[in-house]
Amino acid sequence: MITPHLFIPGPTTIPDAVRIAMNLPMEDMRSPEFPKFTLPVFEDLKKVFKMKDGRVFIFPSSGTGAWESAIENTLAPGDKVLMSRFGQFSLLWVDMAERLGLKVELCDEEWGTGVPLEKYADILAKDKNHEIKAVFATHNETATGVSSDIAGVRKALDAAKHPALLFVDGVSSVGSLEMRMGEWGVDCCVSGSQKGFMLPTGLGILAVSQKALDVNKTVNGRMNRCFFSWEDMIKTNDLGYFPYTPATQLIRGLRASLDLILAEGIDNVVARHHRMASGVRAAVDAWGLKLCAKEPKWHSDTVSAIFVPEGIDANAVLKTAYYRYNTSLGTGLNKVAGKVFRIGHLGAVDEFMIGGVLFAVEMTLKDVGVNIKLGSGTGAAAEYFSKTATKSATSATPAQAKAA
Ligand SMILES: *Cc1c(COP(=O)(O)O)cnc(C)c1O
Repeated sequence: MITPHLFIPGPTTIPDAVRIAMNLPMEDMRSPEFPKFTLPVFEDLKKVFKMKDGRVFIFPSSGTGAWESAIENTLAPGDKVLMSRFGQFSLLWVDMAERLGLKVELCDEEWGTGVPLEKYADILAKDKNHEIKAVFATHNETATGVSSDIAGVRKALDAAKHPALLFVDGVSSVGSLEMRMGEWGVDCCVSGSQKGFMLPTGLGILAVSQKALDVNKTVNGRMNRCFFSWEDMIKTNDLGYFPYTPATQLIRGLRASLDLILAEGIDNVVARHHRMASGVRAAVDAWGLKLCAKEPKWHSDTVSAIFVPEGIDANAVLKTAYYRYNTSLGTGLNKVAGKVFRIGHLGAVDEFMIGGVLFAVEMTLKDVGVNIKLGSGTGAAAEYFSKTATKSATSATPAQAKAA
């Protein structure tokens, strides 16, 4: 009767305002009124990415399509790129780069760590002839719950005075974690609709800097491209249209989700995610369990991958949570399959929801034989939330407080 409580790191829970905004009749995507709707969506997306120049593309695809678009529009087959691999998503991006014909200089890192800044700095400093055309960084590795320091990657590039483009996978970070494309000199930032943007899957969102747009015009021996071509997009997007049928309902939903994000304030959204994640981590600590992320500097504020104790099968945790407590948790992928379960805490989440998932996880862990005391994790999270509460206890917004 009650739909399963969704705590996987995407798709995430869709707020009512967003779902209602998508419940509308089909519309004419070539109507003279359509650009009045689309052009401000492009502008508002720039605010979420904190861009200082450039533009945002919206493809009817998933995030993987935006990965592909970034590569095909700026690089040529045989180009050398610097990448790192430390989880299922960074792994798939490397695989795509290789299949599209790039020569990948690869840093293979331990799962539970992130982008290796010192190695990047070293490799870039040694690349005197600037053979490396792009540097890739997965901002938030969703498989292991690891966030990486993108400002640090920019520093490594600047220290080496290296002109390579900077590509960032922000699929599970944009709209939830700090993303400062302009300040950090990010050239292509990849995102999708079903994580921080709180929408169904179906949009590949790609933010690109002016530098990347310039490279797109000049790249030698460029890659073939068609569906994901920036040139075709730009010609029609400038007028508020698309080169093929856009996912109008999803973009209507995106409008509503941008309204929610901008009304709360991006910095407040980021702070809320940090607070929710800290509550989850307080519970994990209290249970005596370990995160897959090896050090606090890698902690992700959008997803926690949690190791089950030796002798316990993480798949039993997932099944028990699902069938007994109607709660979907994230599965362990690839190298950590059976060893971790994940709690997604991104998008439309608050203390109540985090309390709910921790309650379900706690019972589940006890049921599958983990030696924990019921109330230990939920209690620690409650302690943290009540001690650090910042909202007024008498009004929802500062304006309401003033009016009262
Ligand atoms: C979800 C995710 C992807 C893949 O996005 P799709 O929308 O499933 O194509 C890529 N990278 C990261 C970090 C992700 O979390």
